[in-house]
Formats: sequence, structure tokens, C-alpha cells
Amino acid sequence: MATDWQALDRGPVIPGASSVAYRTGDWRQERPVLDLQRCVHCMLCWLYCPDSAIRVAAGRVVGVDYDHCKGCGVCAAVCPPRASAIRMVPEGAA
Ligand code: SF4
Ligand code: SF4
Repeated sequence: MATDWQALDRGPVIPGASSVAYRTGDWRQERPVLDLQRCVHCMLCWLYCPDSAIRVAAGRVVGVDYDHCKGCGVCAAVCPPRASAIRMVPEGAA
């Protein structure tokens, strides 16, 4: 006899696991450095960051969550050239 689909466990749920609690930023080899003086708060970096690591407050970019940023560089790539508010630097560099 077939099992009712509504009685099945949800497939993609891993009980007890959370990406919030896991510091994926430890994998990073480069990190984005944000220059808030140059930022025009277009929010493209926030929109495209695959790790939701761009911090926003009151509709403005305020920083980077380095605990979860993996250093992919997408934010720097999408930042408008006229702003160029994000540069990638080797992890550990100033
Ligand atoms: S480097 Fe990648 S993960 Fe880190 S803030 Fe930029 S887009 Fe997000
Ligand atoms: S993409 Fe660049 S200019 Fe736009 S909000 Fe992010 S840092 Fe600021």
C-alpha cells in the first residue's frame, strides 16, 4: 500500500543543522573590503551575494558579515565601476 506523500519527512531538512551557526567564512582566501565613502548604496552587492553576507541597516549597506562571507568576489564584480566601493584583498592583508 502506497504511503500518503503528506506523511513523508521533508527531504531537504537536516534536523539540528544551521548555516547561521556554521562559520563558512573560515574557508575564505580573499575578503571584500568595503569603502563606505565610495558606496552609493545601490544594493547590488546585497542582492547578488550568495551568502547573504552584506550587512544592511535602514536601507543602507553598513558592512560585511565575515563569519559567513566565503570571499567569492561577486560583490566586488557587481559593484558599479563608478563607485568601485569593494576591493578583494588576500585574507590576512590590511
Ligand atoms: S565575497 Fe562573496 S560571499 Fe563575501 S560578501 Fe562578497 S559576494 Fe558575499
Ligand atoms: S554594490 Fe557597491 S555601491 Fe552598491 S551598495 Fe554595494 S558597495 Fe555600495
